[in-house]
Amino acid sequence: MTAVEHHLGGTRIGVLTAEPLGRVLDYLAPEGGCVTGAFVEVPLGPRRVVGVVWGPGAGDFPAAKLRAAIRVLDAAPMRDEMRAFLMRAADYTLTPLSSMLRLATRAPGLGEAPKVQRLYRRGPAPPDRMTPARARVLAVLADQPGTAFALADLSVRARVSAGVIKGLVAQGALFEEDAPRDLPYPVLDPMRAGLPLTPDQAAAAAVLRRAVAGGGYGTTLLKGVTGSGKTEVYLEAVAEALRAGRQALVLLPEIALSAEFLRRVEARFGASPGEWHSGVTMAERRRLWRMVGEGGAQLVVGARSALFLPFRDLGLIVVDEEHDTSYKQEEGAFYNARDMAVLRAALCSAQVILASATPSLETWANAEAGKYARLDLAARFGVARLPDLRAIDMRAEDLPATRWISPSLQAAVAARLGLGEQALLFLNRRGYAPVTICRACGHQIGCDHCDARMVEHRFLKRLVCHQCGAQRPLPEVCPACNVAGRLAPVGPGVERLAEEVGALYPEARVAVLSSDLFGSARALKDQIGVIAAGGADIIIGTQIVAKGHNFPNLTLVGVIDADLGLQGSDLRAAERTFQLMRQVAGRAGRAERPGEALLQTFQPDHPVIRAILAGDDEGFWRAEAAERRAAGVPPYGRMAGIILSGSDLQQVFDFGAELARRDQPLRAIGAQVYGPAAAPVARIRGRHRVRLLIKADKAAPLQAALARWAGQVRCPPGLRLQIDIDPQSFY
Ligand code: ADP
Ligand code: ZN
Repeated sequence: MTAVEHHLGGTRIGVLTAEPLGRVLDYLAPEGGCVTGAFVEVPLGPRRVVGVVWGPGAGDFPAAKLRAAIRVLDAAPMRDEMRAFLMRAADYTLTPLSSMLRLATRAPGLGEAPKVQRLYRRGPAPPDRMTPARARVLAVLADQPGTAFALADLSVRARVSAGVIKGLVAQGALFEEDAPRDLPYPVLDPMRAGLPLTPDQAAAAAVLRRAVAGGGYGTTLLKGVTGSGKTEVYLEAVAEALRAGRQALVLLPEIALSAEFLRRVEARFGASPGEWHSGVTMAERRRLWRMVGEGGAQLVVGARSALFLPFRDLGLIVVDEEHDTSYKQEEGAFYNARDMAVLRAALCSAQVILASATPSLETWANAEAGKYARLDLAARFGVARLPDLRAIDMRAEDLPATRWISPSLQAAVAARLGLGEQALLFLNRRGYAPVTICRACGHQIGCDHCDARMVEHRFLKRLVCHQCGAQRPLPEVCPACNVAGRLAPVGPGVERLAEEVGALYPEARVAVLSSDLFGSARALKDQIGVIAAGGADIIIGTQIVAKGHNFPNLTLVGVIDADLGLQGSDLRAAERTFQLMRQVAGRAGRAERPGEALLQTFQPDHPVIRAILAGDDEGFWRAEAAERRAAGVPPYGRMAGIILSGSDLQQVFDFGAELARRDQPLRAIGAQVYGPAAAPVARIRGRHRVRLLIKADKAAPLQAALARWAGQVRCPPGLRLQIDIDPQSFY
């Protein structure tokens, strides 16, 4: 532990705010002084903003003009380790430190004193007279002895008006009390026994428990097919962290997944963890942010941004489905939560578990190189084998151009329905049809603001741009030639597939799972619950179905277009297709019933399709690794994407050309610059987009060189320059 650095009132301090100023500002410490890391309120121009005391002031600002910090906020000071994490993350991602601080201070009402709320609990006196309404109130309280309820909560649970509750208070049957709003989370009990583990699972759990108990840093790849018990195993590591009095964080790629996970945590530890994601209320976020800092939350399950919570003593981070692309944030700060988890853990002596059936090549290679440990769960729990994987050769199927379910797949679905089992049809395309074309002039309807075609969403009766979200009604006449009645959908989306399914199996109950069809994460969760309970015979889904939902009665997976992901020029096209196909196929046959997965493809001999069918994971990764190594691309080389955007195309290009010309700092480290070139999506929201790509050797000091390079030129007003280290997408 380093000693806490104290600053006396009136001495010079440096304060970092989340404002885009590019530097730490000097202030005078507030009356009473403050410590480094303290959250303070400071004047900034005419405003008051929240900042963190970053250390002594730099001293380069004239003393006479210094303003004093207004006050120290009532929040646990930011720990040294967190400040180190933000600085290292900012350096790695070339993101301004202020943007990093913004990620770490997303607590609503940070500056306010803890609010109090009025709570109601059982009092000693009996009511003067019992009514059904009063009896319900007392029953709710008796149900959870010791729990105090907010007025609104109690009145909903007991189905009574506030007046009934107030009446009981007047008679002494209920107590009214003021309690701080941010209460600690219920205590989890890590001593409760988990499920009895298989020998395989027990061995992996023992290794992870030892690692956590050791108290140092380490990263482990936990690889096992879907259903092999990875979750069960890493919950053992969570238990170990809690037993050691440390905190644990489980990152999940999809909020809708967390419902099942929360149930399992409750079954394992007897209470629910804290949740952190976009579906959580502001009040809960504020509570969690405070409680992780004060030690009132032992376990957090959350989305990638949970990595920036002010944990007091984080001992374990689990990144579930570590290969998932949603861990990469590509807005504001560009960072990969998987990599940042490893960085944070290294700084706070925590263990990291990266769990996946189909790890990213990056993680696979780190395990190969011995940087990460690796544990394999071989068998599927309770199921003898993976689903049978077979290709349907679409060249040999007889199918009209406006239909997508081949006769072979039709028969397989019908057979499953006959057995009372569920079938899943997978198509990674939202909406009704990806293209709307005019049969009179050939015009394809595009977005006015983006270089993208509008996608018909028949459910919404609209055309939607998947780049910017712009919507408009489906026109009657072609916007190009004004001919009426000739606009036609081309290609399938899940909604169109649902139409085909409806015609083929009129008796079947069909459910479509696509992120855009649900108003909220909760609605999606509910629908998944309904399906899991047997509420649908045929499920049609986009990639959200690939992400680990348990459908015990699902025995057939049909992939409508296994070739879809292989078409792009993305360096990870093969890897992504492999992962997605394996994940989707893994949905079939979870419980005691064996499953089957059928892949519709026009290229059954493609090496990726063959690797998927052969189930030869290691063979696939080795071959893919060899190709990437030969090409000098990640994970065997480094890349950075540069995205320039602005409203004037020529200006954007000129700036890109100037950057390319002044490539000396990059050449100095042996890096190459490609571009400028129009981005594959050349316009989004009216802004023209131009890309450059930087390639360097794995050992080259890329970030430092990029900083020198970009620092040579001033970005003209109106233009935006974004640097994406280790880019995952190239659109
Ligand atoms: P994964 O995370 O690898 O997909 P899970 O941990 O979710 O696997 O396990 C799949 C299913 O098998 C879950 O329903 C889980 O409760 C069950 N399961 C796994 N291991 C055991 C075990 N040892 N005993 C009983 N059930 C288990
Ligand atoms: Zn658009």
